[in-house]
Amino acid sequence: MQLPSFTYAPDGLAGATQPTVRRPARLTVGIANALLVQLPLAIAIVDADLGVHYWNEAAADLFGLPPAMAVDTPPLTDILASMPHLLPNQRDRIAAFVRDAMEASNRGEPKSFLRVSLGRDRRVGLQVRGIDARKWMLIIDDGRMFGTSARSQGGHGDAWLDPLTGLSNRRHFNQMLREMTEASASVALLMIDLDRFKSVNDTLGHGVGDALLCLVSQRLARETREEDLLARLGGDEFAILVSGGGSAETLGDRVVEILSRPYVVEGQLVHIGASVGIARFPDHGATAETIMRNADLALYDAKGGGRRMCRMFAPAMAEQAQTRRDLEIDLRRALTLGELSLVYQPQLNVATQTLTGFEALLRWKHPVRGSVLPDVFIPVAEEIGCIAALGEWVLKTACEEATRWRAPLTVAVNVSPRQMENTERLVRAVDTALAASGLSPDRLELEITESSLMAKTEGVLAMLHGFRDRGIRIAMDDFGTGSSSLGQLRAFPFDKIKIDRSFIAGLDHRAGNCPGPVADAAAVIRAIAAIGNRFGMTTTAEGVETAEQAAAVGADGCTDIQGFLISRPVPPSKIDALIRRYNTVNA
Ligand code: C2E
Ligand code: MG
Ligand code: MG
Repeated sequence: MQLPSFTYAPDGLAGATQPTVRRPARLTVGIANALLVQLPLAIAIVDADLGVHYWNEAAADLFGLPPAMAVDTPPLTDILASMPHLLPNQRDRIAAFVRDAMEASNRGEPKSFLRVSLGRDRRVGLQVRGIDARKWMLIIDDGRMFGTSARSQGGHGDAWLDPLTGLSNRRHFNQMLREMTEASASVALLMIDLDRFKSVNDTLGHGVGDALLCLVSQRLARETREEDLLARLGGDEFAILVSGGGSAETLGDRVVEILSRPYVVEGQLVHIGASVGIARFPDHGATAETIMRNADLALYDAKGGGRRMCRMFAPAMAEQAQTRRDLEIDLRRALTLGELSLVYQPQLNVATQTLTGFEALLRWKHPVRGSVLPDVFIPVAEEIGCIAALGEWVLKTACEEATRWRAPLTVAVNVSPRQMENTERLVRAVDTALAASGLSPDRLELEITESSLMAKTEGVLAMLHGFRDRGIRIAMDDFGTGSSSLGQLRAFPFDKIKIDRSFIAGLDHRAGNCPGPVADAAAVIRAIAAIGNRFGMTTTAEGVETAEQAAAVGADGCTDIQGFLISRPVPPSKIDALIRRYNTVNA
């Protein structure tokens, strides 16, 4: 089945060549016949009852008609009905248009024009002209005369096309989706979004970006059938309307796979990925708008699930989206409503068995939701752009509270990669926090993650060196979870490496009969500790819960431990008791 669509375009002929059949002085029947038959314009003659008296080769060709039909003057409606690629409501609209246009022509009104879209690159224009009071000529142009072709330049066709890729544009896509849903045809909508396209565009330039988009469209075009509609909705967003909808999931997986293969653009090897969200009509919504929104939700879910994925819409996604919107609203208010607080988790030096400092961890107590975990709300804060404000509050509060501790231990503050993007603001936040609290800079430690250094821009490194020059310590948090771990250690002289707790949890299999993770985790911990010791960095094992783990990481060379074994994160009021317990000699 093909996907047709059409619009009324009363001014569709403005400026275009008017197709007229002139009658030369000595036109023989043979010549007239030859003219009509061979004209690259589909023509049919219809009567007042929509009986079709004649059609030429082009019409037969275009609409897949036989050279002759069983009845002499087959009704136009039957011919339309025999066209498999037309939907019922489209047949009705074509018939209605023809009737209206016939009446209008009898009243001497200007000719109107109907645009019909058949499948991917096939668009035709339809016009009705009066021959006499009882006969009309139906002129169907496949683009060569009225400029409706997908390939025509500067004509009306351009309004439906994406100029860069030659695919359908958002307007055409919207129209088709609306037509399909109004006609109750089952259809699946695939929303496709490229992963990492923006960084290619930013780093390699718009020329490469444009060329890449064209390669992407070519790969997509090879995967779609003639009866599917492939569109570029804008930017790096593409969509496919799969008529029938049957194989949508297979197609979605395939799209993710083929778009993730490397590209060669202007001699350079480029890697991107793609995420796909699918919604089906009518299963996932009653209107085109709902289907769009739900396919978007599925896409959002696919991206959240780690990208390079294809996800089918599920009603739970709509609920999640609502929950998420509520969370956003509440989070924006949390700061002003005083719902945030800090808890502190001690860090212990293995050799001296004394505390060296505390890590400040953010807590959000919502009157209705209860305690919301940072793993839930920090990513949301990062996404909606309020992480900088939250981070400023954390810095200010942590520095201020640390001045009241009974011993001058270090306070470690987590810094989001998002905060590192605006170096000026972060420097100002640190300055303000230190100045307002009077905390000595050498008591402040900033925990950054590997992803903060991904870009390794000069500005970020300069900022970190600036901090260190003032005595502020820099720790690498969650080490080992990023993609280019060891390389990161050379980018900057860190004071401390915090080995991610997944490695420490991985040690637990040591006694069991599951050698894989054991050997791996222990080897990683040993290697990191060795590197740390060599460069004079502190190596902290995170998430140490048991005495066995503490003994193991100590044996593997870690200098410090942090975890439930020493203490869970505690409110400020409990800090002095912990310091007293561990550091009595020093405190
Ligand atoms: P993180 O910086 O790696 O913090 C350590 C997390 O491990 C904390 O979770 C802590 O409660 C937990 N933890 C400590 N010891 C153990 C243990 O023995 N076993 C287990 N299973 N977990 C342990 P929390 O407080 O839920 O924080 C989670 C993450 O949220 C933090 O990971 C950090 O990335 C982020 N975060 C927390 N506070 C802030 C903040 O103020 N700013 C920013 N940007 N991120 C924060
Ligand atoms: Mg941390
Ligand atoms: Mg950590």
